[in-house]
Amino acid sequence: MSVLTSEVPVQATARRKALDAFGRHIHYLRVSLTDKCNLRCVYCMPEQMTFRPNDELLTDDEMITALRAADILGFDKYRLTGGEPTVRPNLVGIVREIGKLPGARQITMTTNGLKLAKLAQPLYDAGLQRVNVSLDSLDETKYHRMTRWGHVADVLAGIAAAEAAGMTPIKVNCVVIRGFNEDNLIELARLTYERDWQVRFLEVMPFADVAEFQQATMVTMAEMIQHIEAHLGKLTVLRDGELDGEARMYKLAGARGEVGFISPVSAPFCASCTRVRLTADGKLRLCLLKDGELDLRTPLRQGATSEELAELMAQSIYRKPWGHDLAGGTIPLNRIMSEIGG
Ligand code: SAM
Ligand code: SF4
Repeated sequence: MSVLTSEVPVQATARRKALDAFGRHIHYLRVSLTDKCNLRCVYCMPEQMTFRPNDELLTDDEMITALRAADILGFDKYRLTGGEPTVRPNLVGIVREIGKLPGARQITMTTNGLKLAKLAQPLYDAGLQRVNVSLDSLDETKYHRMTRWGHVADVLAGIAAAEAAGMTPIKVNCVVIRGFNEDNLIELARLTYERDWQVRFLEVMPFADVAEFQQATMVTMAEMIQHIEAHLGKLTVLRDGELDGEARMYKLAGARGEVGFISPVSAPFCASCTRVRLTADGKLRLCLLKDGELDLRTPLRQGATSEELAELMAQSIYRKPWGHDLAGGTIPLNRIMSEIGG
């Protein structure tokens, strides 16, 4: 379905607050800076991944014009992602430009951390407030089986640099894959005894060509909790079970940090969704797990202003789907995670 063709109530575009048809206030934009990556995680992309040509990706100027449109619509939270955002040239300059948006209240990034040791301080100085760092295992061999490339020591150096720069609390993301790293949950959860990090375990989601592998290796949140409690004792639920972003947060007895679970498959959080995504090739993606998108690159290259883009975006956001339908067997087919922006 084209997000542009159907009728939309006038007030959906007139108000400068992006609401969808279900009354959800959409104000959080995940911005994919590139589809390229310096890793090849087994649950994300094939080893022989073909990336998009650079001329299909938004230029810095095009991206900032699109983000100004989001600002007009009242967006106030931006998360940079990819692909791997740290391989995008001029990342620090892009962060600085986002910081100039009048409504930008929160600027964060999700990264594999490999390049963070050098980048953390300049990024913080440019306005990046926090990072989520992906780390699927502390064991080099297992990490390598998951990511195919890269080294745990570089990720840990990146986390240390981010902490030193002041990007706290650090959030660590671990995608749990049966047969690869499900027995590493314990050592990762143990990190929270000493460090005030949020260590968050993610259920793997299915996308396009990788879906069969992802569905076969998915570990549910319930199983993760059971496994951790069997080894480390009771996990106490925090903040009355209210979601922290997408995560349900817990604490181990005596721990400084927190353990979280992100369960898009077994316990979806669509009702409280406040986000849409801008892909690196300039599509506004309304739901991570549904294929509907609005093309912003074409109007951008035809000279559309931020005001004009904002109108298009408001109409599109109004049609944001209620939620995904993984349970009904619908999976996204047109892109894998790294091409959307996780
Ligand atoms: N390259 C960066 C990184 O890995 O952190 C940012 C992009 S990555 C697509 C964003 C997050 O999505 C990471 O935490 C990654 O582990 C997670 N991820 C990737 N593929 C996934 C999948 N199929 N299901 C669940 N999470 C996934
Ligand atoms: Fe790259 Fe992130 Fe995908 Fe891993 S999860 S391949 S680091 S984009």
